[in-house]
Amino acid sequence: MKQAYLFEAIDGERIKCLLCNHYCILEKNRFGICGVRKNDGGVLYSLSFGNIIAENIDPVEKKPLYHFLPGSRTYSIAAPGCNFHCRFCQNWHISQIQEKRVKTPEHTHFNPTDLLQNSMISSCKSIAFTYTEPTTFYEIIKDTAEARSAEDTMRFVMISNGFMSAECLEQTNRYIDAYNIDLKSFSDQFYRQNCGGRLQPVLDNISSIYLNNNWLEVTTMIIPGENDSPEEINDIAQFIAEISKDIPWHISRFFPNYRFTEHRITDGHLLELARDIGKKHGLKYIYLGNVPSENSTICPGCNKILITRAGFDVIENELTEDGNCPQCGKAIAGIWT
Ligand code: SF4
Repeated sequence: MKQAYLFEAIDGERIKCLLCNHYCILEKNRFGICGVRKNDGGVLYSLSFGNIIAENIDPVEKKPLYHFLPGSRTYSIAAPGCNFHCRFCQNWHISQIQEKRVKTPEHTHFNPTDLLQNSMISSCKSIAFTYTEPTTFYEIIKDTAEARSAEDTMRFVMISNGFMSAECLEQTNRYIDAYNIDLKSFSDQFYRQNCGGRLQPVLDNISSIYLNNNWLEVTTMIIPGENDSPEEINDIAQFIAEISKDIPWHISRFFPNYRFTEHRITDGHLLELARDIGKKHGLKYIYLGNVPSENSTICPGCNKILITRAGFDVIENELTEDGNCPQCGKAIAGIWT
């Protein structure tokens, strides 16, 4: 266990965790909602620190991040735990972990220097904190970031449900170069019933990340019968477009999983309908996920295909070094080098 960052003592025994918008108050020897932070003797400890439960070298497009170092590889890691309990979680076996299973022998011991070295040896250009909810293993992010040398060019990315506290976001914005934030629904009831969260903090954090000039892409998984009404999809697209039409929006297909095994797979036509709604709001970059689709990046100025993809592979990247369209010169939003 490592002493956690971002908490405050209330009265010598109870603790308030400041890491996410649950702002759990923990009695002595109790865990927070995420199940990986514990009040031990009036001090908050992280149980996920030191435990890497998933470790892969992925194309950055798999995160998904399509406008961030395209074609590069990202060293992707996760620690157990999540502050949401989504009934449709696609990684539930590592995110919805019971506290007694947090430390098991199959976990790799975490060391910031090893992590940085592994990412460099495997020719990755970034480290991705992903698969579970990185907010709950913020200590790993901070310690790895601070282990970087001044010459280190390794970038950091975070794939998150966006429910971190303002205090946490203020910190991660210092270390994270690119975020992909899930906007799972535009209904607070959906968030409360299906995720154990709330909508407004996620909306606030999406706006805040964009205004802070961190690179941001947004993902929505369309679940039949849950968040698939044209009205709700319209609200999501409008919200993103009002922040910036340059934010890439990934609309992904749902596969039955965890507690939503009775739900249908998302019909491809529904994804196309969502894409049309996004286009109607002027979103310039819309990509379909978990479905065979061309997913090229097309210049919004002259319609030239700029980045050709097949699955997660970049087949051809015709952007100029500065990230401009070679045909009409339009600047394409993203981090390209
Ligand atoms: S990270 Fe969130 S869920 Fe976990 S203890 Fe802190 S406030 Fe609670």
